[in-house]
Amino acid sequence: MAHVFQVGAGSGGMPVLDMICRDSRISRVTLVEPDVYKPHNVDRHLFPRSAVGELKAVLAEDWLKDRRPELQVETLTCDLLEPAKQAIIEKAVGEADVGVCAADNEAAKFHFDLLMRRHGKPWTLGEVLSGGIGGFVHWFVPGGPCYGCVASHLKREAMVEKPKAPDYSQPGGPVEETTVPAGKASIGVVAGLHAVVTLGLLAEKEKYQPGFTSLLLTLQRVEQVFDEAFRPYRFRIPRLADCLICRAEATPSSVGDLDVALAQALARLGNE
Ligand SMILES: [Zn+2]
Repeated sequence: MAHVFQVGAGSGGMPVLDMICRDSRISRVTLVEPDVYKPHNVDRHLFPRSAVGELKAVLAEDWLKDRRPELQVETLTCDLLEPAKQAIIEKAVGEADVGVCAADNEAAKFHFDLLMRRHGKPWTLGEVLSGGIGGFVHWFVPGGPCYGCVASHLKREAMVEKPKAPDYSQPGGPVEETTVPAGKASIGVVAGLHAVVTLGLLAEKEKYQPGFTSLLLTLQRVEQVFDEAFRPYRFRIPRLADCLICRAEATPSSVGDLDVALAQALARLGNE
């Protein structure tokens, strides 16, 4: 009997939610998703064209209940960062067993990380790279590296070695190339990996050790980015000694201190 707290039921998040909720261990879901299902979503989404115009959160709930009528589903049709909804979001996170982040922007990922660490919850994150050339799955546990550590490590050492290469570590970011949409097949591969890692983490909790903290699977060969297609890279990313977010967490600190550290980290990312 497990409670999943998930953000995002887009083309990447919805298949993850679908796959993990087929598992009978999942008994409750809280889904944060404010968006309306749009015509341009249809070719990459599980929902039918006839559902255009409806809230993705409502469609997701119907989808899950059609398959698992006993599943307890709570939807929050708001942005994860919406100030007025933080109390109800914090309550749901506090009651959750695992978090699933399928957010498409950096601010939401950092905020998800903050919520999970504040409540001591394990969580997972899936990221499909621009154009569907590959994708990441990351998992996080209390006391381990935070999202800031991971994003900083990957940005520095893994992905963007060539100055002119688009920043594939920031899907949805300000660089024009990162807005190339991925196809449904690539999204499905990464969603499947994300679901497997989430269920593994849920089953084994603090004993979970798949041999990586971040897994990158390439799906295409891309000049100056990936030498080979279908190659897994297993990253064991440590907690960064100078991480502003984790460091603030390491000593007893107020929520205000954490918020300051988060703002500084976001500002630093924005300046790079
Ligand atoms: Zn950190």
